[in-house]
Amino acid sequence: MEVILLSYNLPELKSEEELLRHSFFTFLVDGISRACSHQLVRHRPASYSQQSQRYVAMRDFPYVIPESLKGVKVKIEDKELTFKELMETIGKFYQKAVEEGVPKEDARFVLPNACTTRIVFTMNGEELVHFLRLRTCSRAQWEIREMAVKILKKLREKCPNLFNKVGPNCYYLGYCTEGEKTCGEPEKVREFFRKL
Ligand SMILES: Cc1cc2nc3c(=O)[nH]c(=O)nc-3n(C[C@H](O)[C@H](O)[C@H](O)COP(=O)(O)OP(=O)(O)OC[C@H]3O[C@@H](n4cnc5c(N)ncnc54)[C@H](O)[C@@H]3O)c2cc1C
Repeated sequence: MEVILLSYNLPELKSEEELLRHSFFTFLVDGISRACSHQLVRHRPASYSQQSQRYVAMRDFPYVIPESLKGVKVKIEDKELTFKELMETIGKFYQKAVEEGVPKEDARFVLPNACTTRIVFTMNGEELVHFLRLRTCSRAQWEIREMAVKILKKLREKCPNLFNKVGPNCYYLGYCTEGEKTCGEPEKVREFFRKL
């Protein structure tokens, strides 16, 4: 996964609240799974441009393998399949379907959530703080969390005054808001975000 801060603008405003509201940040994220981009685009006060699967050839499509699936073999009927073999089979199916005249926009229906994508998005500072509070938390899924941490690092490099205090709620607010779903390790998490 690659995260690039393409551009940002910070108007000359004194109050932090106004500055967050009127500043804009544009990121390019490449190499995340479609599962992850689907979670990202749920955040509404933002603009998105995503690589299309309608026209891009996907025979050897790149994909993300979660750690938990590495080395896993699943027996289906008489055949044992690894994740990699399953992806290759899907790629072959996709390719043959396209060669037989199925439009790419339909052939892509066989592509998995693991398939990687490239997305550009713009958010104002206020929404980024909201997004980061939710998605840097241990409750967020590992991939979007990894992405959110990279985004936060870039923001801290450029605007430390605005983003050094941002992280999951246990760090940002000083207490956990996740109730029974808490990771139970707020001190460890705070330490991570203090040192980031
Ligand atoms: C740990 C975690 C687990 C999740 N699990 C699921 C799940 O199982 N199923 C699922 O469907 N989703 C799930 N989500 C996604 C979640 O439901 C939201 O879609 C996502 O967090 C984005 O919405 P948001 O309220 O955070 O705000 P954003 O869309 O980021 O908007 C920010 C804020 O702007 C305001 N706002 C935005 N749009 C409007 C509007 N139209 N009207 C009024 N106010 C608005 C609200 O105050 C909102 O909180 C999960 C999210 C997290 C972080």
